[in-house]
Amino acid sequence: MQRILRKIFKVGKITEPLGKAEQTIDVLGPKLDRVVKKRFQGSLAIRQVDAGSCNACELEIHAMNNPYYDLERFGVHFVASPRHADLLLVTGPVSHNMEIALKMTYDAVPNPKLVIAAGDCAVCGGEFGRTYATVGSVSQVIPVDVLIHGCPPTPTDLIQGILMAVGLPE
Ligand code: SF4
Repeated sequence: MQRILRKIFKVGKITEPLGKAEQTIDVLGPKLDRVVKKRFQGSLAIRQVDAGSCNACELEIHAMNNPYYDLERFGVHFVASPRHADLLLVTGPVSHNMEIALKMTYDAVPNPKLVIAAGDCAVCGGEFGRTYATVGSVSQVIPVDVLIHGCPPTPTDLIQGILMAVGLPE
């Protein structure tokens, strides 16, 4: 044990500094923290719904919880049930198979609720458009408050979108 402690003190911090693109979290994070504390009692719960995405949007959403962005430190966390959520974060062009599930998920979120359509597919159908298998955009199925463009949107884009949504007038 002493050997490990000695090594920790000797080596010190070796974490790499944030890259330029990630540095925006130092500005966005505290802003988000302030709004979440003020409007959500310090805890914003997000339910993510993949309504037919290619999963690249999900990879960027996962990245918001990596050690660079670490969204939880600003009071934002993802929940498994829509009944515990304040905000729905929806990706994909809404496949017909997901249409009813998306409506039911929306209905299950308690009022007042916020909805973000994340990624070009969710915004307007994107790569998939409106086809025999897809509806075309999230707003054709449920009301949407904020649109986040990008294919896929970066974690910074997503955090900006969340910040915009939580800052909307009630
Ligand atoms: S917006 Fe791009 S990355 Fe996201 S689901 Fe559509 S095709 Fe995939």
